[in-house]
Amino acid sequence: MTDLTKTPQPASPLDTARTQLASAVEILGYDEGLHQMLATPRREMNVAVPLRRDDGEIELFMGYRVQHNISRGPGKGGLRYSASVDVDEVRALAMWMTWKCAVVDVPYGGAKGGVTIDPRQHSTQELERVTRRYTSEIMPIIGPERDIMAPDVGTDEQTMAWVMDTYSVSQGYTIPAVTTGKPLAVGGSLGRATATSRGVVHAAAAALGDAGVKLDEVTAAVQGFGKVGSHAARFLSEAGTRVVAVSDESGGVVRSDGLDVAALLRHVQRTGRVAGFDGGDPIDNVDLLALDVDVLVPAAVEGVIDAETAVNVKARWVVEGANGPTTSEGDRVLAERGVVVVPDILANAGGVVVSYFEWVQANQAYWWTEPEIEDRLEHRMVTAHRAVAALASAEGISLRDAALAIGVRRVAEAHQIRGLYP
Ligand code: NAD
Repeated sequence: MTDLTKTPQPASPLDTARTQLASAVEILGYDEGLHQMLATPRREMNVAVPLRRDDGEIELFMGYRVQHNISRGPGKGGLRYSASVDVDEVRALAMWMTWKCAVVDVPYGGAKGGVTIDPRQHSTQELERVTRRYTSEIMPIIGPERDIMAPDVGTDEQTMAWVMDTYSVSQGYTIPAVTTGKPLAVGGSLGRATATSRGVVHAAAAALGDAGVKLDEVTAAVQGFGKVGSHAARFLSEAGTRVVAVSDESGGVVRSDGLDVAALLRHVQRTGRVAGFDGGDPIDNVDLLALDVDVLVPAAVEGVIDAETAVNVKARWVVEGANGPTTSEGDRVLAERGVVVVPDILANAGGVVVSYFEWVQANQAYWWTEPEIEDRLEHRMVTAHRAVAALASAEGISLRDAALAIGVRRVAEAHQIRGLYP
């Protein structure tokens, strides 16, 4: 019986991911056995990560690597450093990676990693030691043909260089393809650092285009000003969109006739935060979601658009730069209000597309030019969008359900064709 004395908990990312999968399974008409196989992570590793701090004290962190599915190829997914990471969050993120890789048709499964650490509380040396110890703990399950890492919240290309180095030293030779999102000097790819954001803008342009609207005719607000949000704001602004508000954890800024995004980027590089930028007025993160803009780009964390905040969303399009920014209840409210949601597994897939290009280049030891990468990225994003939009319109379903149905079906096909061992 439901305990009515308890305040309902907000939906966790894993609740959201599972509800989305159930919806896709229903659309596809799969049975319960296949549903269970698709819902359950194939392999998980929980590790203790002890750190000797700079002052000599020992502190212990928990680390996770979840390979949700490896039927279409090696696990692929980011590594997150955040004080709030737990295994369920990593499970949700790994599941979304599986569908995302399938939607853009890169030959990977889905995986994700996390360490429960707030990177802002640690020196570079401490972060290097944590990264190397975590890598060495999960070594048995990673590798260029097994599971390939990339940056996510709280990690960056330096983190990927340490992972690559630790793995390579253990094997006795340099293996750049074990991570993507690396610095160019150690086998990174041109265009990778901005690929997720470029992809977000391609996805936005394609979705708006379906309604006969161009990027230079609209206004936008971007929540999150990290690796994804900052470049998304910049590319939107370069495409002629009036970016009226952005925010990060410190708060946001709004200016109705458009922010000077280049000046804001310089401010953030100098001060490390959006708050305090004098080219606009302060706004908080909840009010930003409710701004009267055409396009809203959540590019920070999960679950920000829930039943409560969705009621106030005035944007016509929500383009999900973040993973899981909209809960299932939030989705329902947005749909009722006629808001078009370009789902995360499509909208932010540019990162994994260029990660795939980086892995292909590393495997061939042959590097492509930036225009080659940008063209191929755009082609992949537009192709994926067309397939998703066509299914959505043919079946009368949302872009999210269509993207999930395509991703889940491709993974299920791989299961069925490979057969069940033994
Ligand atoms: P990041 O750490 O570089 O940036 C995160 C940003 O969000 C920062 O500006 C931070 O201040 C802000 N933020 C954190 N909590 C917030 C809150 N409660 N409200 C408002 N802002 C907040 O991380 P990132 O790599 O830009 O990732 C952002 C999102 O995009 C995540 O959901 C991530 O999983 C997803 N994503 C990232 C990539 C990638 O290539 N980096 C690819 C696909 C999806």
